[in-house]
Amino acid sequence: MRLFNTLTKKIEEFVPNEPGKVQMYTCGPTVYHYAHIGNLRSYIMEDVLEKTLLYNGYEVNRVMNITDVGHLSSDSDTGEDKMVKSAKENNKTVLDIAKFYTEAFFNDFKKLNIKKPKIIEPATNLIPEYIKLISKLLEKGYAYESGGNIYFDTSKLSDYYVLTNHKEDEMVVGARQGVDKDDNKKNQADFVLWFTKSKFEDQELKWDSPWGLGYPGWHVECSCISLKHCGEHLDIHCGGVDNIFPHHTNEIAQSESYLGHKWCNYWIHCEHLNDKNGKMSKSNGDFLTVSLLEEKGYDPLSYRLMCLQSHYRKQLVFTFENLNNAEQTYKKLKQKTLSLTDNGTCDSSAFNHYKGLFLKYINDDMNTSSALTILYDVLKDNISDVTKKELVKSFDEVLSLDLLKQNTNDLDEEFISYVENQIKLRAEAKKNKDFKLADKIRDELKEKKIEIKDTKEGTIWLVK
Ligand code: AMP
Ligand code: ZN
Repeated sequence: MRLFNTLTKKIEEFVPNEPGKVQMYTCGPTVYHYAHIGNLRSYIMEDVLEKTLLYNGYEVNRVMNITDVGHLSSDSDTGEDKMVKSAKENNKTVLDIAKFYTEAFFNDFKKLNIKKPKIIEPATNLIPEYIKLISKLLEKGYAYESGGNIYFDTSKLSDYYVLTNHKEDEMVVGARQGVDKDDNKKNQADFVLWFTKSKFEDQELKWDSPWGLGYPGWHVECSCISLKHCGEHLDIHCGGVDNIFPHHTNEIAQSESYLGHKWCNYWIHCEHLNDKNGKMSKSNGDFLTVSLLEEKGYDPLSYRLMCLQSHYRKQLVFTFENLNNAEQTYKKLKQKTLSLTDNGTCDSSAFNHYKGLFLKYINDDMNTSSALTILYDVLKDNISDVTKKELVKSFDEVLSLDLLKQNTNDLDEEFISYVENQIKLRAEAKKNKDFKLADKIRDELKEKKIEIKDTKEGTIWLVK
């Protein structure tokens, strides 16, 4: 399997530290608002990555944090805590806000067929671990106390900018958005490990520490959660490209200074979903959610397909026109896959041929769009329906488009049994040569948006 590694800026063969087993960490959401479909593009990419690893036979230990404290309005440690701000605006406690948006986040996962990571850890769970890591960094001389906060001293590293193209002079105040002046810092690139002093006095969640009552910085949580659940040698760390700097850069600085050795081998980043204003983001307020797409009548899996149609390392521009095209393609695709019968036997040589091609593309830095063309080739081929069905089932382990699942999510059980009963009545009518009644039943179902198809194996039905 080959992956583009942000650390080396090359496509590399993936080799985990322990044969057959992958330690994978993915940065989770800051749960102060709904996830937008841009965030979810990154999580779809990570889902495809985990499923591709599983498809290749690896065991995957995937861990994700939930940021419920410490993520300030700017990623460079300035501004108000995003959680506190949201709690105030909604007249709720920080923990209520975290619970509400965490549930909403995993609801979106379900709708988009994104597998929940094996371990999910809220940041507020591991305060003793953060204190341990920060104490060791202070002891080793990588951190210092200033103005009540504990900072990481980036000048102690020979290559702080290992993951990014940023240069020291870009950290000059005003050179980039989000670089604000903080007189307590020795170097502009230094970042906060523990806050006891914040410009905002109403920080709701605070814990005792050797440096006084305070709360952890955002970056420290991902290092500690990963170290706790994935061990000292991480294989894969993921996120969106905006996480490369400063978040992942800071994670490397603190984890490797703490451990005294290299920490993570592969850094995989998903490019942004943009709208007409540029990167879709929670802070600009104008963003799309999965629920909103549903309200507009879209199947969330059409959005998943739209993401799979492009490469994760290319920016994707969201327009409703693009989504409409993806929705049409998805509907046609499902009509084809749901019409497959159980006719014939499975042709193992055709199966292996197509599975080999699918693997070739998916293993080539997750080339999902080419992998999809193999699916279309299968459906067009002259092989038996059973072979096609087996291949569709196999590919869907990675694509997760519910290609063989009847779309009955929105239908209640009563309606489903009504449809099935009508189909039985129609079969009886046809047996009795009462074609008028049979056609009437078909037309009535059509009016209710149920399409029926007669196959050699019996009658199947589709929701239009
Ligand atoms: P946040 O909840 O803001 O911490 O972001 C959660 C994840 O979504 C991170 O991995 C971000 O890098 C990623 N992300 C944020 N905005 C976008 C976007 N417009 N397109 C793709 N990924 C994004
Ligand atoms: Zn993170």
